[in-house]
Amino acid sequence: MGTTPYDWLNNSLVALHRAHRYREVQAVDGTAGAVVQRQGQTLINFASNDYLGLASDPRLAEAAIAAIHTYGTGSTGSRLLSGHRELHRQLERAIAALKGTDDAIVFSSGYLANLGAIAALVGTPDLVLGDEYNHSSLRAGSKVSGATAIDYRHGDVAHLREMLEIHRDRHRRCLIATDSVFSMDGDLCPLPEILELADTYDAMVLVDEAHGTGIFGAQGSGAVEHLGCTGRPLITVGTLSKALGSLGGYVAGSQPLIEFLRNRAPSWIYTTGLSPADAAAALAAIHIVQGEPQRRTALWGHVRQVMAQLDAILTQAETSHPIRRLPSESPIICLEVSSAATVVAASEQLQSMGLWVAAVRPPTVPTSRLRITLMATHQQTHLDQLLAGLQRVL
Ligand SMILES: *Cc1c(COP(=O)(O)O)cnc(C)c1O
Repeated sequence: MGTTPYDWLNNSLVALHRAHRYREVQAVDGTAGAVVQRQGQTLINFASNDYLGLASDPRLAEAAIAAIHTYGTGSTGSRLLSGHRELHRQLERAIAALKGTDDAIVFSSGYLANLGAIAALVGTPDLVLGDEYNHSSLRAGSKVSGATAIDYRHGDVAHLREMLEIHRDRHRRCLIATDSVFSMDGDLCPLPEILELADTYDAMVLVDEAHGTGIFGAQGSGAVEHLGCTGRPLITVGTLSKALGSLGGYVAGSQPLIEFLRNRAPSWIYTTGLSPADAAAALAAIHIVQGEPQRRTALWGHVRQVMAQLDAILTQAETSHPIRRLPSESPIICLEVSSAATVVAASEQLQSMGLWVAAVRPPTVPTSRLRITLMATHQQTHLDQLLAGLQRVL
């Protein structure tokens, strides 16, 4: 009857539309920043991961352009073949210095860093215990590794202990994997307690600092520093694409760990080395993170102010739908709303007021929410407009 093996695609798209889960891209014109142009509209940007405003910093652009002039655009091969430059080692040493680790290894993205590290560190006889709210790349890594992957309840150390008690003995190696700053909630993992359990049960710990690096800690090293765990035996993963304003990912840790990954991480060995431009921009960003703590001071000032004023608004508001601010200790501030349709409508209403606030829906997260991310480079008027807009929408 004229059916083809691809008809299910259209049926799936119809179902996505019906469930308000259909997604599409929207182009930003011009440079990144606290204010952006999107499809002809000027929007105050509360939807980016560019926490320190470095993606449009001229010093990163100059470093990237200089690297292109020196090395060209592409790295032309995998790092073990023709793709390695001295610039990559400079970047890896700078990451290790920022993190207070022996060494680091740079991947082409944070996603690939998690995929490669987990797949290299564990296999079929092993166990991965992950926080149920972990980033998709941690889940993908566990799956690819072939290890037994079990989730523990979000931030629940007692449940993690229970899982270790039940499952640890039946496996060879064990890896506990967690975001340090949860990307869709903004809260922190209980790292000191996790490290203690890891010690007791002979487990490795991998912590994903994608939303921590550059933002947390006196040195901007990340949430590991903030939580007092620098120097503990740890596998730290992160990205160069959020606060560092570039592209790429990394693993930081002990000398044997990094050497092992250079020999065994498939998503590092079998992919083209990071481009010279991205590497140079990230290196410039690390120097700014270390040299300009005032950016973090500004960002944290914004976080405290917006949280306090939002809570005041929520206490006063007589809302027809229940709205809750999710517990957060980071520049990621989420307002949980009742349904996917409601969150999309709220985001559209905010957009009509010139405010770009992301609507995040299942299956990315268990419950629909407005996700606000703050930047060091937001001005007071931007924050005022955000709060006024939210007050109207709520
Ligand atoms: C963004 C993100 C990643 C992926 O990093 P990319 O460099 O964008 O691939 C990994 N983990 C977490 C927690 C993230 O938020």
